Amino acid sequence: MTQSNLPAPEAAAPETKDLVGLSREDLALAFEAVGVPERAMRMRVNQVWHWIYHRGERDFEAMTTLAKDLRKTLAENFHIGRPHVIDSQSSIDGTRKWLIRFSDGQEVETVYIPEEERGTLCVSSQVGCTLTCKFCHTGTQKLVRNLTSGEIMAQVLLARDELGEWPSPTDGRLLSNIVMMGMGEPLYNFDNVAKAVNIMMDPEGISLSRRRITLSTAGVVPMIERAGTEIGTNLAISLHAVRDEVRDVIVPINKKYKISELLAACQAYPGLSNARRITFEYVMLKGVNDSLADARELVRLISGIPAKVNLIPFNPWPGAPYECSDWEQIEAFADIVYRAGYASPVRTPRGRDIMAACGQLKSESQKQRAAERMAELRSKDMQFQPS
Ligand code: SAH
Repeated sequence: MTQSNLPAPEAAAPETKDLVGLSREDLALAFEAVGVPERAMRMRVNQVWHWIYHRGERDFEAMTTLAKDLRKTLAENFHIGRPHVIDSQSSIDGTRKWLIRFSDGQEVETVYIPEEERGTLCVSSQVGCTLTCKFCHTGTQKLVRNLTSGEIMAQVLLARDELGEWPSPTDGRLLSNIVMMGMGEPLYNFDNVAKAVNIMMDPEGISLSRRRITLSTAGVVPMIERAGTEIGTNLAISLHAVRDEVRDVIVPINKKYKISELLAACQAYPGLSNARRITFEYVMLKGVNDSLADARELVRLISGIPAKVNLIPFNPWPGAPYECSDWEQIEAFADIVYRAGYASPVRTPRGRDIMAACGQLKSESQKQRAAERMAELRSKDMQFQPS
């Protein structure tokens, strides 16, 4: 089934330009193009920025720090967009998942995970994913496209709307952390991710510190250094195996960039220190990568890299070819890593009941829409039946 067969999105894209996801420079250019005087442009950009990203305002008329005629010009030419929420689900553990649709009908999922000390938003960077990691549900989705910086930012703004968290509080935030761990490979969409993450960190807007943002990659080795210098957030690596033969199968990008190259890039990640460690993610797959010999090899491989290891119990999905390791095995594995001097927390699965846990995300409406389409066709058939 191709996307073109699907019904058009309900809301047609407004004709005006969406300001969300534009850098300050882009904003200045956009304003200049509609005749906003060059004089005091920087101040105008700052004011609008503040309204969009600090206050969450979407109505230009309410931007009272701007002169009336400027508000009018802006309203005539621009809008401050939000994606369409198609479905919103809450887990019994408080995790929330939004299925959102962009103006071209493409969809992604965004997940909010509340914890005692923080609230983390798991943001998608692509529709689908090209990596086809064997244990990941998103990788089974055929259709893939990059999200724009606006579409990445929009997920954050939408979550803040839903949490009612405007203006940006200084502390005690519900949304305090962001992980680029949703659908997609962020380093395959570098420019848009970099632009969006820089907007998230901007002190006059959302204002999240780089220490509260984590970018996760399956190992696009040539982009890792740039990620350090141009984005500079925490880095997480989806390692998942310690031998190339195994990793080639479960994380196929390994066929291109081997474990040794990946670890060399990690070692060279700009700004690495004991206070700023790389997180190695390791999904526990029964009988595949979870032996105690694997644990010892893991410790050997990462020695010398300031690191912590995040063990992720495998989250099942329909038709998945793996099982989660037994709990005792996960504990024994974690113990070896811990004794070698690395923090080795086991990630508590969150939102499994709503398919919101790691690796379970998918534009599920693909299935749902197919069903709707069938129903529609059937009803059309009925109409055309000769009476
Ligand atoms: N493409 C990036 C961003 C996705 S992050 C990356 O690979 O890092 C999502 C994390 O969840 C990755 O570590 C991924 O390997 C892991 N994951 C995927 N499917 C999973 C599953 N079924 N159970 C547990 N973790 C999974």
